[in-house]
Amino acid sequence: MLIAEGPVPRPEILATWRPAIGRAGRSGAFPDGDGQMLVASGLVKRYGTRPALDGFDLTVAPGEIVGLIGPNGAGKTTFVEIVSGLVRPDAGTVVVGGRDALRSGRAVRRLTGVAPQELALYQTVTVRENLRLFGGLAGLRGRALDAAISRVLDELALGPVAGKRTGELSGGQRRRVQAATAMVASPPLLLLDEPTAGADPETRSALLAAVRARAAAGTAVLYTTHYLPELTELHATLALVRAGRVIARGTQEELTGQRTVDDLYWSLAVPAPEGESDAVA
Ligand code: ATP
Repeated sequence: MLIAEGPVPRPEILATWRPAIGRAGRSGAFPDGDGQMLVASGLVKRYGTRPALDGFDLTVAPGEIVGLIGPNGAGKTTFVEIVSGLVRPDAGTVVVGGRDALRSGRAVRRLTGVAPQELALYQTVTVRENLRLFGGLAGLRGRALDAAISRVLDELALGPVAGKRTGELSGGQRRRVQAATAMVASPPLLLLDEPTAGADPETRSALLAAVRARAAAGTAVLYTTHYLPELTELHATLALVRAGRVIARGTQEELTGQRTVDDLYWSLAVPAPEGESDAVA
């Protein structure tokens, strides 16, 4: 797990913080013609000759939580980085809220809240000031900003540490603050990359409750994790990634039948023997 916490968020991370405001900020406001908030098709990304993504397809609908699972190096974070506008794919398309994310990156970033795997928070200011900064970057001002901060502090049980300097918080608390910065402006698409990594049960429970509530209100959520039972708790649609592709996607019932998410993971995470297809019916 990568957790690099510099004193100042990297500019390219900050550049992704243009979540939705005003009418555009209402969750589910911009599904495309097929009712999807996010549609990724045929994504390819190579580092050198090695493909990190190799024909990656995925959709996320308003109100849907898609749990992206797969072994280390499968390509989950690369996908999040492409949708966030941090990494450019070599091929493929990404449509967010009906708009081409690779051509209209700026507009699309206003619809997207990102909690990156590598935390990007100001360490020397308080939690509330971090939220003020991120909410302000998203265009919130005055009472609307105050209300959004209060709401997200409450949602993520961060009230007691709101006045603390972020650098003084525990790792789990910081991760919760990062999720709060993604949610503060109520974007219709949330990208949460391992938001509960290293989190204690209290942090995990607050985060899962907040994610469920946002999805119930219409937010489309892409959620990567290695803690598979979380996806059961979230009633997430599962998308299993291996070697840069989604090799199975569906509800837990559709994919697992009587099996658990754990069983599914183990049955699919191991490469198929030579000559056997990766496809899952
Ligand atoms: P994890 O579960 O460990 O977070 P992941 O599924 O998110 O893994 P990625 O981080 O997307 O996987 O990595 C996919 C592949 O791309 C890996 O082989 C990784 O080494 C490679 N990769 C990712 N970023 C870079 C980079 N900046 N330069 C070179 N290779 C990279």
